[in-house]
Amino acid sequence: DVPPTDPLEVRGLTVRFAGLTALDDVGFTVRPGTVHALIGPNGAGKSTCFNVLSGVYRATAGSVRFGAHELTGMPAHRIAGLGVARIFQNLALPPRASVENCLLLGRYRLTRTGFLAAGLGLPSAAREERLHRERVREIAEFVGIADCLDRPAGSLPYGQQKLAELARALCMEPRLLLLDEPVAGMTADERRRTAAVIAGVRDGLGISIVLVEHDMGVVMRLADAVTVLDFGRLIADGAPADVQNDPAVVRAYLGA
Ligand code: ADP
Ligand code: MG
Repeated sequence: DVPPTDPLEVRGLTVRFAGLTALDDVGFTVRPGTVHALIGPNGAGKSTCFNVLSGVYRATAGSVRFGAHELTGMPAHRIAGLGVARIFQNLALPPRASVENCLLLGRYRLTRTGFLAAGLGLPSAAREERLHRERVREIAEFVGIADCLDRPAGSLPYGQQKLAELARALCMEPRLLLLDEPVAGMTADERRRTAAVIAGVRDGLGISIVLVEHDMGVVMRLADAVTVLDFGRLIADGAPADVQNDPAVVRAYLGA
């Protein structure tokens, strides 16, 4: 009943900065409706990869296809318009805005009648706004932050704010979610809840998720596939259990 999202196909991706190759001929495929972990030591190129996928950086070479669309060279707002939503490593919610308004802002790209109609108080806009509010409440309940909707985002405990960011991304009705360290800084209880929400997003909504995460417990529990980068190169790619025991991965993590 959930329309499947598209595969994400990364091929020969290379990103060079002056004198430094941050990504070197990297390729992997994210199958629709799966959690795909992208892991590796600091400086491996994970954030660079996210920056290319979301249109912040331009690739030096290679291609990124999301279904029928070539993402390399596309501006960030058009990539977002295709349903690629990104959550940053650091908190990004406006702290004084209510959680509900933060989530409503996440629905901006889905607004049909536009803010002009809303400002003029037209009936079509009122109807649309009511539907957006209902959907925001549903998503807040799904993520477990519905009791925080009226509070300023900045007043929530850190872990709840990160869950609110995840909820805001879901409010965009994304087809592909890019999560940069979603459980970093969370309590054990919040980590478990976030992992359950991510699994629920995959299983219930059929969204694909690319997950950059240092918490190996979370990666091994959640990921359907794992790609390992080290110094910009792909060193392993496959099922979590296989990748975990791969000698090259063990070496990269132990620094031997
Ligand atoms: P990770 O997220 O895996 O820790 P990054 O993708 O942030 O790694 O960084 C990979 C490499 O690229 C690092 O050596 C980093 O210093 C370099 N790098 C990242 N962004 C830039 C940039 N805008 N300019 C120059 N070097 C960069
Ligand atoms: Mg990073």
